[in-house]
Amino acid sequence: MIPDKAKKELEKLLNGNKNFVNGTPCASNMSLETLRKYAFHQEPYAVVLSCSDSRVVPEIIFDCGIGELFVVRVAGITAGPNVVESLEYAVYKLKVPLMILLGHDDCGVMKYAREHYPEKTGHFDSILNCVYPVLNQKEDITCHNFFAQQHTIWVEKYLMENSAIIADAINKGDLYIAKCHLDHSTGLVNLI
Ligand SMILES: [Zn+2]
Repeated sequence: MIPDKAKKELEKLLNGNKNFVNGTPCASNMSLETLRKYAFHQEPYAVVLSCSDSRVVPEIIFDCGIGELFVVRVAGITAGPNVVESLEYAVYKLKVPLMILLGHDDCGVMKYAREHYPEKTGHFDSILNCVYPVLNQKEDITCHNFFAQQHTIWVEKYLMENSAIIADAINKGDLYIAKCHLDHSTGLVNLI
């Protein structure tokens, strides 16, 4: 069940995504005036773990402006120590009620991992260490986009097992994790 606060914020973001898809974005808080309003504090209502991919820009696809989203972007939404601690900061210090895990179509990390699994290539090792476990479970994955979605599910499990801050917040009903996937052809963010 989704706690009320998280539900409200998730609906707001999914409605913002509809604005983006329909070509009717209406985020108004994108000015210097907004930045000045938040010059000495911030009150984001969601933390987003997004891929670094240049096509996946949370503020644009959710129709948001300055001060709304605490965004952590890393290739393949791979959750190493700095990434986990950045997410924890948003949960523990900024008290965000909602965490979005945002995977997407055509992810370069999923393609690279599938091409090289199970080798250690000598490059991108910490990234591959975060995506190979999914292939260890389901070696018959042939679709990059299905792989990305399975990886997003794995990331949620990883966070619950490796972050006491995140697990506690979930168990207390202070945080909800929404697993999402961006479809490049429609622009829609779909819940997994
Ligand atoms: Zn990606």
